[in-house]
Amino acid sequence: MSKQNLSQAEPFFNPHVEALPKYNAGLTLASARAASGLERIARLASNENPYGCSPAVQQALADGAVELWRYSDPSCELLRAALGKRLDVELGNIVVGNGSEEMIAAASRAFLTAGGIALTVAPCFGLHEIEPLAVGASVTKIPMTAELDFDVTGLEAALAQAPNILFLPSPWNPVGAALDRDGLARLIEAAPATTLFVLDEAYREFVSDAIPDGLEMLRRTQRPYIVLRTFSKAFGLAGLRVGYAVCSSPRIAKMLAAAKTPFNVNAMAQAAAVAALGDEAWMNAAVNRLTVERDRVSKALRNLGLRVARSEGNFLFFDAARDSAQLATALLKAGVVVKPWLEPGYRTFIRVSTGTVAENDQFLDALRAIVR
Ligand SMILES: *Cc1c(COP(=O)(O)O)cnc(C)c1O
Repeated sequence: MSKQNLSQAEPFFNPHVEALPKYNAGLTLASARAASGLERIARLASNENPYGCSPAVQQALADGAVELWRYSDPSCELLRAALGKRLDVELGNIVVGNGSEEMIAAASRAFLTAGGIALTVAPCFGLHEIEPLAVGASVTKIPMTAELDFDVTGLEAALAQAPNILFLPSPWNPVGAALDRDGLARLIEAAPATTLFVLDEAYREFVSDAIPDGLEMLRRTQRPYIVLRTFSKAFGLAGLRVGYAVCSSPRIAKMLAAAKTPFNVNAMAQAAAVAALGDEAWMNAAVNRLTVERDRVSKALRNLGLRVARSEGNFLFFDAARDSAQLATALLKAGVVVKPWLEPGYRTFIRVSTGTVAENDQFLDALRAIVR
């Protein structure tokens, strides 16, 4: 082969992966500082817990008990035992992931293949679309209603088409709405037994009393399901990457486990998650402060004449009535990082996480200066 041919040679590029939409991640602190020239940055783009995590976690990681030179436990026995007790679920039904996002990828690998169909909502949580597309499946998205809420009737009709898998976020990232008991019951009823019902409850800890526990509802049925939860949001461990799947059967759990990497959850993360579960009082206190702040910010946005979706999470989704990427750039100049929604059809919407009181004020002041 000539030299020229060699330089032109290309490996096989998986067309499914090459065509994937890009995951829209929030800016790092360093890049936000560089872009704004400011020290004081309000990072409100990734729904993290601005209060950090429980001191019990810091202690568990600092005391040297984690053996960094050993491979981590591939089956996360201690953490699964703590979760099983907390949720009253058999250990064989729980799989721990490198973030719940790894479980979205594993579910797509295990329960979809080229030509398969995944159903979700629009605007969607990026990975509910990216992971099915990565395995060659197609994705049907049911748009939110004009009231910025779930289109339960539209989802019922789409479920009648028997998709292989449903990725249903509730509370809904990015919108914020959560299904009430009647809405969730209707979707459970409408889903054929051949559809794997994946309920993503990443924000479960933030919901009000009116919102049902999806795991409680699903476990009273005979249908196949996976409920996803995470330590990244209310428990404040986003940087450590731990989430988990509660499955309707050990067989489904085994499939998920087979589709993940063996040592997926590192030893520090496993120890931290066990410690975090042991201090739910810290988490509850943080959640209470954040939901009060979320409602204050929501009211302030409405007072600016903006349309804001109801939220049961630690974030708000609003129609800025202008190009959201441009607005995000303007906010960044004031040291505020938000997430402009880039999905077609929603490009005037912004998702803003709930921060500390000072961060939220920094956001509201900057926004008022721009939209007034
Ligand atoms: C944040 C989020 C996740 C991912 O959380 P990790 O556990 O950090 O991977 C999953 N689903 C939804 C809807 C989220 O918003």
